Amino acid sequence: MGKIQIMDEWLSNKIAAGEVVERPASVVKELVENAIDAGSTSIDVFLLEAGLTSIQIIDNGSGMDEEDALISFSRHATSKIHQERDLFRIRTLGFRGEALASIASVSKMTLITSNGESGTYLELEGGHIATHKPGPLRKGTDITVAQLFFNTPARLKYMKTIQTELGHTIDLMNRLALGNPHIAFRLLHNGQQLLQTNGRGDVQQVLAAIYGVHNAKKMVGFNGESHDYKISGFVSLPEVTRASKNYMSLFVNGRWVKHYLVQKAIVDAYHTYLPIERFPIVALYIEGDPYLTDVNVHPAKHQIRLSKEPELLKLIEETIREKIRNVIRVPLMEKKE
Ligand code: ADP
Ligand code: MG
Repeated sequence: MGKIQIMDEWLSNKIAAGEVVERPASVVKELVENAIDAGSTSIDVFLLEAGLTSIQIIDNGSGMDEEDALISFSRHATSKIHQERDLFRIRTLGFRGEALASIASVSKMTLITSNGESGTYLELEGGHIATHKPGPLRKGTDITVAQLFFNTPARLKYMKTIQTELGHTIDLMNRLALGNPHIAFRLLHNGQQLLQTNGRGDVQQVLAAIYGVHNAKKMVGFNGESHDYKISGFVSLPEVTRASKNYMSLFVNGRWVKHYLVQKAIVDAYHTYLPIERFPIVALYIEGDPYLTDVNVHPAKHQIRLSKEPELLKLIEETIREKIRNVIRVPLMEKKE
């Protein structure tokens, strides 16, 4: 008799949760990304005690029918990829089919969802269905994650202060709002509104909501195109800088990513205009065939491998350099007159 057994689903979900669900901000990330993938135009996030007490996300996306709602909590349940070749042309933010199963396994979750034709109300505790009944017909999804890590005390103990946890979620929401200017976002903490965007597709409005109107006014737009990539976005004038690179937000096909060489290309574009150890505020949108951009590097999907990287870096550096030079030259000449 061998010793090896396949572990039951709840145990494997809890282990997977250790990777995907690090803190309240990771829950917000997964749930908001699901709402984005569902085609929502409005996404509201309500937190109590930085999400440690409760995280509620209400969207107006496609919703789910009853059958999908019930299966959505199973490991590897996804509507986003069906076959291997889908992996190479991912357009959605999610695709692993892990988030709901993982989050549900370490919290008390309520899911209210409707596709407009039927409504479903589910309560889960540690991933097990506790209540299942018909729900309201409002199209969209309303998920509440309460008592996160109630059954994983070690993880709960590791949580930082409310301010630190909240800071992570604010950073995340800022990025999601910048990456999706066509979606109206709201973030409320203990009833206080921390972010609101109007969803009209105006990147400068989102920049103003995050960094203040004053700073947003000191940002200039740019556009560029090469054989394989299109770029657009806003960069701050050299007079508006920050001591950290965190204010340079990069999006590849709508997904926020970290990319050292792209950041470097932007900084290089400023040439000598940027004070030493100061960095601009940037929102850079890169569009290219998903085939060129491999996001399947890490479960959190922050890292990306870009094909034709030299071409892209050159495009970014040249486009931004040209823009900065032009706007700087004009005010300088005005001063001389
Ligand atoms: P993934 O996003 O990787 O597919 P998830 O576990 O996050 O995996 O979600 C599982 C499935 O549940 C999704 O593929 C989607 O079909 C459905 N789903 C989750 N959240 C929503 C939502 N807010 N609106 C509509 N469908 C959703
Ligand atoms: Mg998902």
